[in-house]
Amino acid sequence: MDRNFLDKVMEFGQHLESANRQYAELKESVAQMMEENHALQIENHHLRNRLEEIEKQLEDKGRKPGKKHQPKSAEIGEGHDNLARLYNEGFHVCNVHFGSSRKGEDCLFCLSFLNKQNG
Ligand SMILES: [Zn+2]
Repeated sequence: MDRNFLDKVMEFGQHLESANRQYAELKESVAQMMEENHALQIENHHLRNRLEEIEKQLEDKGRKPGKKHQPKSAEIGEGHDNLARLYNEGFHVCNVHFGSSRKGEDCLFCLSFLNKQNG
């Protein structure tokens, strides 16, 4: 009976050790995940800032100084030119496929949209 009891104690000890090892591994991977998470948060923050910068730059470009007093029709004309240029560069400007590549094919939606803007 003593022998059996001792075996059981030893076995229990081994289980404890292995559980302890697993616990240490888990702790390590949690620490790693927290580090990664932290790094991603920082990167995300930087990317957001960068995006805001780019959006501001685009806004500033769209709002050219000295054009404020021109009539609205001129602004529409400028917008139309931009869309026509975009179309000529090979992209859709229609509601259906806006911004995607025309793959070298003319698009009736785009053309009718551009004609409407013209008239
Ligand atoms: Zn189109």
